[in-house]
Amino acid sequence: MSLIDIGINLMNSAFDADRDEVVRSAEAAGVSPLIITGSSAESSRLAQEFAAAINTTGALHSGKLFSTAGVHPHNAKDWDAGTEALLRSLALHSEVAAIGECGLDYNRDFSPRDKQRFCFEAQIALAAEMKAPLFLHERDAFDDFSAILQNNLTNIKKMVVHCFTGGEKELERYLELGAYIGITGWICDERRGRHLISLIKKIPADKLLLETDAPYLMPRNMPGAKRNGRNESRHLVHIAEFIAEILGKAPAELAAETFTNACRFFDMKKI
Ligand SMILES: [Zn+2]
Repeated sequence: MSLIDIGINLMNSAFDADRDEVVRSAEAAGVSPLIITGSSAESSRLAQEFAAAINTTGALHSGKLFSTAGVHPHNAKDWDAGTEALLRSLALHSEVAAIGECGLDYNRDFSPRDKQRFCFEAQIALAAEMKAPLFLHERDAFDDFSAILQNNLTNIKKMVVHCFTGGEKELERYLELGAYIGITGWICDERRGRHLISLIKKIPADKLLLETDAPYLMPRNMPGAKRNGRNESRHLVHIAEFIAEILGKAPAELAAETFTNACRFFDMKKI
């Protein structure tokens, strides 16, 4: 089974001690390429550098590392002209497969909402300029978020709403807008992810993408999973098997579909 983890926060300090090993063990489990999420100017720069360094060594047998370049809404307060220039220069590298993660997060409000909206729209414009797909984050901000997408549709080539945890109304709207949907191990959480078990059946097979969002969101129903343990890309195998069962598909079939979707979405023919 070959899977692509479209979202791992590999530059998070949780991986400082064994970052290379996390990549290798994922590949050994069949999870490769990985797409490292950039969530600030600094983490986007580090993600591109790490991906380029691994790719140069040829350490991976089955693929390459990719990254995204963007500023998470939590970090929108740090956005300035220098950030935009940095993301623009990062997007020119072959490892950088998308702009983001970007969007709106009104759950924690770590940045003022007007600043979040400004930073989000600036990254939509940048993705349009660079002809890059968008890696999107939305939490408790559906109305403003979907309105901004609607107003910018002509500027958006492709987009994925990553770590989708919303309800039916949100899902239908995102699909209408043409978005891909990223599903994480949240669906494996019997406390909060239950509603996704019926909703995931409504996602067209060619719009579904899989991700861990590691080190967060350890799939809770994975045998041996430690509560609040560190999630890793290799656990995507468990998430895919669980989703395949829900969808009544063979794991290999789901893997092949979502692998093709990820290659199409991120234009990974350029590997
Ligand atoms: Zn996110």
